[in-house]
Amino acid sequence: KKLTANEVRQMFLDFFESKDHTILEPASLVPVDDPTLLWINSGVATIKKYFDGTEEPPNVRLANSQKSIRTNDIENVGYTARHHTLFEMLGNFSIGDYFKEEAIVWAWELLTSKEWYAMDPEKLSVTIYPEDEEAKRIWQDVVGLPKDRIIELEENFWDIGAGPSGPNTEIFYDRGQEYNDLDENHPESFAGGENERWLEIWNIVFSQFNHLPDDTYEPLPNQNIDAGMGLERMIALSQDALTNFETDLFLPIIEKISAISDKVYGKDEVKNTSFRIIADHIRAVTFAVSDGALPSNDGRGYILRRLIRRSVLHGQKLGIREPFLTDLVPVVNEVMGDYYTSLKENEDFVKKIIKREEDRFHETLADGLAILNDLISDLEENNEKTIDGASAFKLYDTYGFPYELTEEFAQERKLAVDEAGFNQEMEAQRERARAARSTEQSMSIQSDVFKDLEEDTEFTGYTETEDTAKIIY
Ligand code: ATP
Ligand code: MG
Ligand code: MG
Ligand code: MG
Repeated sequence: KKLTANEVRQMFLDFFESKDHTILEPASLVPVDDPTLLWINSGVATIKKYFDGTEEPPNVRLANSQKSIRTNDIENVGYTARHHTLFEMLGNFSIGDYFKEEAIVWAWELLTSKEWYAMDPEKLSVTIYPEDEEAKRIWQDVVGLPKDRIIELEENFWDIGAGPSGPNTEIFYDRGQEYNDLDENHPESFAGGENERWLEIWNIVFSQFNHLPDDTYEPLPNQNIDAGMGLERMIALSQDALTNFETDLFLPIIEKISAISDKVYGKDEVKNTSFRIIADHIRAVTFAVSDGALPSNDGRGYILRRLIRRSVLHGQKLGIREPFLTDLVPVVNEVMGDYYTSLKENEDFVKKIIKREEDRFHETLADGLAILNDLISDLEENNEKTIDGASAFKLYDTYGFPYELTEEFAQERKLAVDEAGFNQEMEAQRERARAARSTEQSMSIQSDVFKDLEEDTEFTGYTETEDTAKIIY
């Protein structure tokens, strides 16, 4: 069924309402009273308090569409068809109420029934935990799924090392061989789990054990269901879009970037990635600032700062030389504002914060550009043709110029850049970073983020005073 983004979301909520679930409003991206999380990163993150008994739930059956931010997916964004920093998770939860049979049967009904999403049941496959006989029986005998579309995977066990844990089952949609060809990083076979061809849409966790300190598992008195479906992926399937970005959620933002840059989306894979990254990041930044997070040097604020700077740099790759991010905010709010009504109320504030941050980064870039221009003039006077690796690296390290940007400016002046020399400097820097990290494993929450960003050629980490940016590793 071809549905708009709002219709896909609403249909999910209506379905679970019809199964006696109470629909929860989306919670703020900024966790409340939860020092273990930088961002709300899933539907269950906001309702843990009901699972562990710290608070009484309004109902034992709950459902929501929860905005979530996952920084561990940053390096996938723009490169895979299916990952975002900010996405919405459609969740249904049972707090000691229904269990495997209802969770599986309802998932199947919602996906395949003509009244609901009406997906082709032939296209759906599932994975289960090998020892989960019950889930296997339900998929086989109750749903009637053929054996060869029920794949046993050892990893299908949800466990954070302590407390509630249990097997899970994931549902995949087969997009066809063409999509496999798009995905260089994953093997042909479905047994390896999700890839671009077998799109993971839904993850249903059967929380049934308590993981004890002596590493044994005892059955939980209350068995819970924690199920999350990716809204953007469902929209892409419903609209038969090549990637999540070719949907009514993202195209208006991409079109605006196209108008600003005067570049066409869909022609060149390198530029496509920049379009997608900007469209992704501006959504995350707009939502996060609207929820009260502000750019800064650590924690949440650091991530925002990085998302904004990354967007500016991808804008540069599209030839956008002026600040432009605030012009995208109203577009995000137009697309998302029906469901997330506070976005429009906060629009002016969000624009002000993003503008200040973007302007500051432009100043740093301008300082770097002045240095680059001096350097180029010197080279021209001496009739030299190549910018040396060390200078290119200094521009990167101190002024935030990715190699490609330096190269682009150099080309405009008919000069080359010593890429091998640049890479050498970069490698030396990474070595120093590795040495520093192994002696100082104390970055706690942040370390994950730094690790994810490490291989990113554009930026790693910052420490920053008011007007200088210096990258640390
Ligand atoms: P993937 O393997 O694709 O990275 P996941 O297994 O890490 O997904 P879960 O933690 O199971 O994801 O989250 C539940 C659902 O949320 C997924 O099945 C998927 O549909 C969606 N989802 C997860 N991460 C993202 C993301 N970064 N962007 C968009 N959707 C996501
Ligand atoms: Mg993931
Ligand atoms: Mg997965
Ligand atoms: Mg999953």
